[in-house]
Amino acid sequence: MPEIKREVRPIEVNYVCDTCGQGMMVRSGEMDPVSGDIEHRCLICNHLQSFQWREYPRIVHIGLDEDI
Ligand SMILES: [Zn+2]
Repeated sequence: MPEIKREVRPIEVNYVCDTCGQGMMVRSGEMDPVSGDIEHRCLICNHLQSFQWREYPRIVHIGLDEDI
């Protein structure tokens, strides 16, 4: 397969706290290697929530012609 290139743009993905609806969730612990759970904590109310195989905030890249 030949090498192909395309221009992309970075998009930041955040998760807003389910409890207070205002704070951003940030990673607060290591990933459990068995379950894949990653503990996060709300910056405002300290609510704890785990996301499986997902981390916030994170950066994804999408093509210039793609919608968010
Ligand atoms: Zn909160």
